[in-house]
Amino acid sequence: MDACLSVQKEVDKVLGKFDGIKAHSQRTLDELIDSLNNIRHELSSAEQHSELNRVHQLILNSAQNRTKDILTRVSNEHKDIHSSVSKVGKAIDKNFVSDLIQLNAEQTFESPERMHLLNEVICEHFLRQGMLDIAENLTEEAGLDMLDSAKEPFLEINQILEALKQKDLQPALIWASRHREQLQAMNSSLEFKLHRLRFIELVCQGGVKQQEALAFARNFSLFAQGHTKEFQVLMGSLLYIRQGLEHTPYSHLLDPIQWDDISDVFTQDACSLLGLSVESPLTVSISAGCVALPALLNIRQVMQQRQCQVVWSAKDELPIEVDLGEAHRYHSIFACPILRQQTSDTNPPVKLACGHAISRDSLNKLTNGNKIKCPYCPIESTPAESKQLYL
Ligand SMILES: [Zn+2]
Repeated sequence: MDACLSVQKEVDKVLGKFDGIKAHSQRTLDELIDSLNNIRHELSSAEQHSELNRVHQLILNSAQNRTKDILTRVSNEHKDIHSSVSKVGKAIDKNFVSDLIQLNAEQTFESPERMHLLNEVICEHFLRQGMLDIAENLTEEAGLDMLDSAKEPFLEINQILEALKQKDLQPALIWASRHREQLQAMNSSLEFKLHRLRFIELVCQGGVKQQEALAFARNFSLFAQGHTKEFQVLMGSLLYIRQGLEHTPYSHLLDPIQWDDISDVFTQDACSLLGLSVESPLTVSISAGCVALPALLNIRQVMQQRQCQVVWSAKDELPIEVDLGEAHRYHSIFACPILRQQTSDTNPPVKLACGHAISRDSLNKLTNGNKIKCPYCPIESTPAESKQLYL
């Protein structure tokens, strides 16, 4: 943030200077043009073919000198702004370009297998974004063997999303009915929402579509369970089919946000049906990296100053905890209340017979003979009665 502010300060300086120069040069050039026009007018009103008299010569000379002066001044001012612009560039260099090479772990992409994996991740990202031609080029150039069957689901999802953008529900409706069982098992409201949008479309087309809307409403019986209230609202909107839903209690059904929402719901549900995360692994890695890098650069600098780089390179883990925020938390975590440490595979959480949970290391430490006294309640149990928890 500080970096942005200091660059902004430089940019503001340039803009201020630029505005000043612009106004000033505009004014002086206008004045100059006016005076030149006056001279021309005066000369043209003089008798034709007569030679220039002394006064005219003087006026012309002074006008010429003045023009030269003004042009030099304007071009100097213009040059001057260059130095301010280059200061912005320097400010950007100073504030934003960090020496990321220091953080590069050389072994990360050194083997061909790892490069291959990286290319696959990039390729999958392009497929997810619907950039099929780029994905195909990359597949070819990097020698990946992406099967057509791997591409197909992405192709279909992108086609459906494209159609939804054009407010064409048909491909999504077909997809949803084909995957109805799986969607219902996931407790998805996708199909209901698609039908709701289609129904609203029909209602908006007025009285001529009344029969069609009624017939379509029968489809809701398939998945209206759990959506009774919304279903009632939809049926109520039929009352206004002739006059249109604007300016009625049902006008909220026309909210364009429903279309944004349906694209999100479709992407989420389709991805989870395919066993994919909503965001591509590449997007997740890059955004996590952007959050983590400043902290890592700082700690790296501190470690270098104290000459303890060994800690960094010897371990395959980060030397500090980096909080990536809510969006990047995928698993429940458990911190042992005794050790005040997050549990791990080597020190997993365990549940005591009384129901309280601590970490395995704490359990071992607190065990006395063959008894463990819960640190939270007076119940005593044996370590054998405890059970490992899987979060
Ligand atoms: Zn207890």
